[in-house]
Amino acid sequence: MKIYEILLALENLAPVSLQEDYDNAGLTIGNANSETEGCLICIDVNESVIDEAIRKNCKLIISHHPVIFKGLKRLVGQTLTERIVEKAIKSDIAICSMHTNLDNIFEGVNRSLCEQIGLTDLSILRKTGGILKKLVTFCPEDNAVKVRKAIFDAGAGEIGEYDQCSFNTEGLGSFRAGEKANPFVGNIGETHFEKEIRIETIIPAYRQKNVIAAMLESHPYEEVAYDIYPLDNEFNRTGSGMIGKLPQKMMELEFLKKLKDVLQISCIRHSELLGRMVETVAVCGGSGSFLLPDAMRNHADFFVSADFKYHQFFDADGKIVIADTGHYESEQFTCNLLADYLMKKFVNFAVQISETPVNPVKYF
Ligand SMILES: [Zn+2]
Repeated sequence: MKIYEILLALENLAPVSLQEDYDNAGLTIGNANSETEGCLICIDVNESVIDEAIRKNCKLIISHHPVIFKGLKRLVGQTLTERIVEKAIKSDIAICSMHTNLDNIFEGVNRSLCEQIGLTDLSILRKTGGILKKLVTFCPEDNAVKVRKAIFDAGAGEIGEYDQCSFNTEGLGSFRAGEKANPFVGNIGETHFEKEIRIETIIPAYRQKNVIAAMLESHPYEEVAYDIYPLDNEFNRTGSGMIGKLPQKMMELEFLKKLKDVLQISCIRHSELLGRMVETVAVCGGSGSFLLPDAMRNHADFFVSADFKYHQFFDADGKIVIADTGHYESEQFTCNLLADYLMKKFVNFAVQISETPVNPVKYF
């Protein structure tokens, strides 16, 4: 397969445009037109992961964390990043990353973590604003079914658990074709009235290009009239962190034990226990301390995340329990998420999860 085919599938899962400003997700090393027989999935890339990719004949590594995060000014093998980049290029191995773009979608890093913990009733903890747009177009009655199907297939019209959502009104369109026009209906130089359907639906900004292309392709008119409006609505499919409920309330200690078990860890740093039952749990894979206020506002009993500093534990303030499970540990299921997704998409493509240990933090 060409590497760009894999990139396209990954883009469909979690568009790179959803990454945070500071991030560097996407293809950072290699040529998208190169071919590969398989891909190797990992959380972080180190030199041993590249050796594993060579051994397993994978010309593409998909990592969660980007290898090149800050700018690189030279490649002289002095830092670990420089050595990894050099080795990847010399070995003709491409590296792409699915980082905060994968954190920021409903089906991403946090849902995997929630599912492992057994949370249900999931929703995004801090939803992203400014993503949704309204699309309105007008087309002859007979073509409305085809146009609607095309824009839905391209990703328009999803509201929560519903898809194919639109509102349709009948009306009368008018136009006069100029000398050089080639009208679908009506005659050159004559005002024409056509019974049309006004189709309105919503699109997330990152699907806009695809949806407009599909609409233009399916629409019979030479010049398609359409409007795109920005919306203030929150979008419940993108954002940071996730919150859900345990199927049954449990004691705080019991929940901590469950976390250790699920995440396979020997210790958890946590704030003071509050002596109450745990039901609502907020999570954020990786460094999620910035979401503590959101977890508290949503009345979570526990906030499961990583990279809390000493002083940040005070912020729990007797209202929530912070459980810091370790950065790698909270993101470890991301590899399975990516592997499952790609295996479903490409049946004859070797998708492998790396067996090389990469967590730089050790516990004694
Ligand atoms: Zn991370």
